[in-house]
Amino acid sequence: MFSAVADSWSVRLRAEFAQRLMKARKGLAAFAIMAGALGLGMGLAWNTGLFGGGSAAAAAQTAQIREEAARRAEHLAFTEAYLDHETREMRVASGETLAGLLVRAGASRDETNAALASLNGVYDPRRLRPGQSVSLFFSDARLTGVAFRSEPGASVTANRTTAGFAAREVLMPLTFENARIAAQVETSLYATALSLGATDREIAALADAFSYDVDFQRDVRPGDDFELVFERYYDDEGNTVRTGDLLFVALETRRGQRNFYSFLAPGDARPDWYDAEGKSARRFLMRTPINGARLSSGFGMRRHPILGYSRMHRGTDFAAPIGTPILAAGEGTVVRAGPFSSYGNYVRIRHANGYETAYAHMSRFARGIRAGSRVRQGQIIGYVGNTGRSTGPHLHYEVMRRGQQINPINLQVANGRNLTGRALELFNIERQRIDTLRQVRASETTEAALHGAAAVATP
Ligand SMILES: [Zn+2]
Repeated sequence: MFSAVADSWSVRLRAEFAQRLMKARKGLAAFAIMAGALGLGMGLAWNTGLFGGGSAAAAAQTAQIREEAARRAEHLAFTEAYLDHETREMRVASGETLAGLLVRAGASRDETNAALASLNGVYDPRRLRPGQSVSLFFSDARLTGVAFRSEPGASVTANRTTAGFAAREVLMPLTFENARIAAQVETSLYATALSLGATDREIAALADAFSYDVDFQRDVRPGDDFELVFERYYDDEGNTVRTGDLLFVALETRRGQRNFYSFLAPGDARPDWYDAEGKSARRFLMRTPINGARLSSGFGMRRHPILGYSRMHRGTDFAAPIGTPILAAGEGTVVRAGPFSSYGNYVRIRHANGYETAYAHMSRFARGIRAGSRVRQGQIIGYVGNTGRSTGPHLHYEVMRRGQQINPINLQVANGRNLTGRALELFNIERQRIDTLRQVRASETTEAALHGAAAVATP
């Protein structure tokens, strides 16, 4: 299950990612033509299969990246020979055909006809849209080449050969690697990981893996260490074009070091995260059933802000703006949803093994949340409010064991998913493979650093 925690996290991450991509694209306008790139063998790794699957957002992101790569492909398509040719950047005018554009740019009728004829079977020029840019190359007033983007990630080129014009579709060559990023958090984990070649996918997956143990707002600080191992496809300039599976995540904060390995257990529909012993990263109950909140009062004795005397606080308070989603800490059945004296709008959920969780002071309940509803872990059950006896918008969260409130910080109940038998054997094989990859990549990075190489294995 890709929890709602990670989902809402990735929404914010995606916004940051989009901004960064915009900046990167502006920078591209000034890039230099790389000579001899044709020798790389166009289309080696780039095929549509690489871009299959994923969410709509991921697809949109992939489309943007492909478009960016296509711009480069367009220029790479011309070899060194074209560097001294005159370039004319044209835009298709409204109602204009490609033939009309070529003539307008100064190509002769014969050249235009020859260039268009070469496109037969490669590209239908009627697919060109007004405003689309077309690069034309001239040498001694003769048309020598035509290049334009046929679709994101691909360009069409027609260039003069000894036997007239030859056209083809050009695809970007991509290289595969198992990338390893090991670094200290600078301003934010997200920014640091991104600058090292990860994408928002890996960071959202890391957030998912640690969502039971780590509150990213509170626990992750500059100077903390993290590590990611993931499959990556990159272009000739080292830009990550697409990432595959995330294999390993590690995070070391002041609360300790945790490592998780991705593993698809026999019979499971999707991989999950396990520690080195094969214990699932998932917890029976989340300690922090809210995102982006500040712990404002822990479990234990405290001076009550309204009643004015010290008494036991049998829950955990998280300060957060009104409307912040509150998540079900675990799978279970809603046993109460409604106003409940000083608790204000209140939800209580019954889980397995005699556990219950309660959520108070909500502004409102999520749709469909009423006594008897079944909830999944991470499902939104309501929204932060200030109802009941409350001095400001916050979530009051309680964990109960056989009717007694307990401190969720001490919650030791794992979900019971410990790999055993054949599954554990398979897991150990995969863990060793991943650890070997980590060691190899770590030594390569050290090598590169020792030799003062500008480009390390994982840029
Ligand atoms: Zn409270």
